Amino acid sequence: MAKATFEVPELTQYTEVPPITPGAMAHSAPFKSREEFQTPLGFPGELVEDWQARAIDKMGELLGKYRSLRVYMDACVKCGSCTDKCHYFLGTGDPKNMPVARQDLMRKVYRRYFTLSGKLFPKLVGAEDFTEEVLNDWYSYFHQCSQCRRCSVFCPYGIDTAEISMAAREIMDSIGVGQKYCNEIIGKVYKIGNNLGLPGPALEDTLEGLEEDVYDDTGVRVKYPIDQVGAEILLVTPSADFFAEPHVDGLIGYGKVFHEAGVSWTLSSYASEAANFGMFIGSYDNMRRLAQRIREAAIELKVKRIVFGECGHAWRVAYSFLNTLAGPWDFLDPRYPVPQHICEFTYELIQQGKLNLDKSENDDKVLTYHDSCNVARASRMGNTPGGQFEIPRAIIRATCNNFYDMDEDTIRDRTFCCGGGGGLLTDDLMELRVKGAKPRVDALNNVMQEKGVTHMATICAICKSQFTKVLPYYGLDMDQIVSLHQLVSNAIVLTPGPDDEDEDDDEPDPDDPNDEEETDEAA
Ligand code: SF4
Ligand code: SF4
Repeated sequence: MAKATFEVPELTQYTEVPPITPGAMAHSAPFKSREEFQTPLGFPGELVEDWQARAIDKMGELLGKYRSLRVYMDACVKCGSCTDKCHYFLGTGDPKNMPVARQDLMRKVYRRYFTLSGKLFPKLVGAEDFTEEVLNDWYSYFHQCSQCRRCSVFCPYGIDTAEISMAAREIMDSIGVGQKYCNEIIGKVYKIGNNLGLPGPALEDTLEGLEEDVYDDTGVRVKYPIDQVGAEILLVTPSADFFAEPHVDGLIGYGKVFHEAGVSWTLSSYASEAANFGMFIGSYDNMRRLAQRIREAAIELKVKRIVFGECGHAWRVAYSFLNTLAGPWDFLDPRYPVPQHICEFTYELIQQGKLNLDKSENDDKVLTYHDSCNVARASRMGNTPGGQFEIPRAIIRATCNNFYDMDEDTIRDRTFCCGGGGGLLTDDLMELRVKGAKPRVDALNNVMQEKGVTHMATICAICKSQFTKVLPYYGLDMDQIVSLHQLVSNAIVLTPGPDDEDEDDDEPDPDDPNDEEETDEAA
C-alpha cells in the first residue's frame, strides 16, 4: 500500500456526522479523458468552443427524454433528510457532498435556463449561469457520487441523485469533458471484449489453469469452457473474475456449481465482460452498444439461458434494462428468467437439495455480508420482494457456520457504498475512495470487535477491488474480502465423473492394458 498523502479518518464505533468543512474535497477530480478515448464513444475529443450552448441544449434534451429528471429538479423541498446520508459527506465533511447540494449544482443551472422565475429573477430562486466555474464544480462533485442511491431511500420524494449525476456526466461528455477511467474502459470492451483488455488466448490460458488447479485440489475434473457452441448456459461475468483474488475464487465456485447441476455452460471471449460502464456515464447509446455484445454472443453460441456472475452494477443493468437494451430474448428457453443471477441459480439448487455442502470447510472464518448498492437498491433476485437481501444471506448460511450481520442501519436497502462504485474505482480518486469507505469500514470494524468477524463476503467486483485496496489504509487486512461463491466453492462436495474415478482407482482394471502396464511398472 502506498503511503497516504491525505489524512485517513479515524474509525469510530458508529459513523458520526462530521464537522462541516467547505471546500474539503474541491481539489478532487478524476483525470480527464483524451481524444483517443472520447471519439470511439461518439463524444467530442475536447471541450467544444460553444460548450455552454451545447450543454444547455443537451440538458433540454435530457429533461424531455427523462421526465424523472425534471421531477427531481422541481420536487426538492429542502427538508434536509438526505444531508447526512451520503458516505462521501460522512467521510469528508464537504457540504457539496450532501446529496441535496450535489443536486443543486444542476438545479441552479436548470432554474436559470428552464424556468420562468429563473430567467426573470435568478438571484431570488437560486438560479445561476452555466459558467466555467460551475462546470468545474460539476466535474469535481459529480465524480464524487458513486450513484449508490442511498440518499434516495431517505428522501420523502424519492429524488434519485444517482440519476442526476448520470445526466450531468452525459452532458459533460457531450461537450468533450469526459472522465478518462470510464471512457478508456468502455473503449477496451469495444476493441477487445472486456474492461481489462484481456484477449481471448489469455482467457483460455487462465481457464485451463483453473481446471488444473481444481483437479489438483479436489481430484475432480471441473470444466471452465469458453466459446462452446451449443452450451446450455452463457455465463457473463466481470473480467476481474478471470485473474485476480478474491474474484477468481468466485469463478472457481460458479464452475463447481454448474458441474454439480450437470448443465453445460460456457463463457464468451467476445462478451467477456459483465460490467457496463455506459451506465456510469449516463450514456444510453454506449450502455446499449455494450449490452448488444451479450445478445450477439448468446446468438452465436446458441445458448438457452444467460447467467450473470457476481457484479453489482452489471446486475442492475441486466435486471432492470437488459430487455430494453438488447431484447427481445425470444430465442432463449422461456422456462428460465432472462437473465438469471448466479446467486439465484445456486440458491435454487440448495433449496432442491442438489448441492452437497460441508459447512465446516469454512469454519476458519466468521463471516459478515456487504450488500452492494446496485444489487440492494436497484434490482432484485428471486420471486419475492427483498430476495436480493435474503438469497445471498441464505447461501452464506448454507455454506458457513458462523455469520453475523453488520448494524441494521448499514445493511440491506440502507447499505453504505464501498466508496468505489459509479466509475470512481480509479487511483486518481484514492483520497475520495478511502474517505468514502469510512461508514462501511466503521460498521465492519464494529462487528469484528463485537462478534469476532474475520471476513466480509460480497457479490460485486467493484466492491471486492475497492475493499482490498482501501482496508489497509484503516489498518485492516485486504484478505478479509471474499467472493460469495468462494464460500460455496470451499463447502461444495464435488461428485466425481467417470474419468475421475479411473484416476483414483487403485485396483488394476484387467480389461485395461494401460492399467496392467502401470501396475507392472509400479511393481
Ligand atoms: S447517490 Fe450515493 S454517492 Fe450519490 S449523493 Fe446519493 S448517497 Fe451520495
Ligand atoms: S431529502 Fe429529498 S426533498 Fe429533502 S432535501 Fe434531500 S433531495 Fe430535497
